[in-house]
Amino acid sequence: MTEELFSTDAYARSCPAVVSEVTADGLVLDRTVFYARGGGQPGDTGVIRWDGGRVGVTETAKRDGHLVHVLDGEAPPAGTAITAEIDWDRRHTLMRTHTALHALAAVIYRDHDAKVTGGNMEPGVARMDFELEAIDAEFGRRVEEVLNAELAADRPVHVSFLPRVEALADPDLIRTKVNLIPASVDPIRVIEIEGLDKQADGGTHVRSTAEVGRVRVAKTENKGKAFKRMRIELARA
Ligand SMILES: [Zn+2]
Repeated sequence: MTEELFSTDAYARSCPAVVSEVTADGLVLDRTVFYARGGGQPGDTGVIRWDGGRVGVTETAKRDGHLVHVLDGEAPPAGTAITAEIDWDRRHTLMRTHTALHALAAVIYRDHDAKVTGGNMEPGVARMDFELEAIDAEFGRRVEEVLNAELAADRPVHVSFLPRVEALADPDLIRTKVNLIPASVDPIRVIEIEGLDKQADGGTHVRSTAEVGRVRVAKTENKGKAFKRMRIELARA
């Protein structure tokens, strides 16, 4: 199993590691700072360096339970000591985007009693789907105002690991369907935006909401009954 350093330290940009396995299109490491695609967050990109060589990482994904760094060139052999370094600008933008989405979900739930049904993000842009009956541009503007006020309040963002039995008993976590997480997952990783949102989540987030910066609601779309979509964009850092 790969030790997932990003899980407890989202700000780690690089780490020494050892190649534990070479796969068809990439490699597995004993430890890594690369986040594997999942939960709507894209996998990290970056570079692997070793004595006398380097190779680019174009994608990181979980395959058959293994965290695979997909390479754009030849992999160093198993046993090689390497340095793994993520594309930090891209990742940090994804962290800001991910935290913005959690804040958006919380505002829509608190103020409009609507749950999230889906979502996806790319660096700096994202969409989220809600069980809302109605949506229009004016609604988008109001949400944008409230969302930016919550972000500007500089709420701390905490990562914690809760025993499964405790997570299943937490009303805030039940709302975000913690019961759907496979029974084998214990403890459950929880991301809390202090005073605003708490959900089971594997992704990487910024330390506090002010670091997200300003967010613009770029588009509101009616995709069907109780199926409304919002697209958001981050202002430049
Ligand atoms: Zn998330």
